[in-house]
Amino acid sequence: MLLFGTRTRNALLATLTLLCGRCGNPSAHQLLRRTTMFTLFFVPLFPVRRARVTALCTFCGLTSEVPKEQVEGLQQQAAEQAAAYDQPPAPAVPPAPPATEMPGSGREG
Ligand SMILES: [Zn+2]
Repeated sequence: MLLFGTRTRNALLATLTLLCGRCGNPSAHQLLRRTTMFTLFFVPLFPVRRARVTALCTFCGLTSEVPKEQVEGLQQQAAEQAAAYDQPPAPAVPPAPPATEMPGSGREG
């Protein structure tokens, strides 16, 4: 008996924050390359479909296909966002307490 079928594999290309078109949240999106492989005895042999890149909204689960020409730009954007996260946070400076002027303690006069 010949056991064959297909299996879709997701490869995570990048994670970046995007404004979701459905839920409207600026949430993390996973850029996934989906490849459907022909399998023989559960061994993936060759792709049966052109690989496509999708963006998955981690907030609402919306999956939208990303046009090929936008993939590189999004990966660049993800790299920039990751670099921004890697930078040390600015030293936390507590807001200065408002200068209070004691009434009646004026030095003048
Ligand atoms: Zn969403």
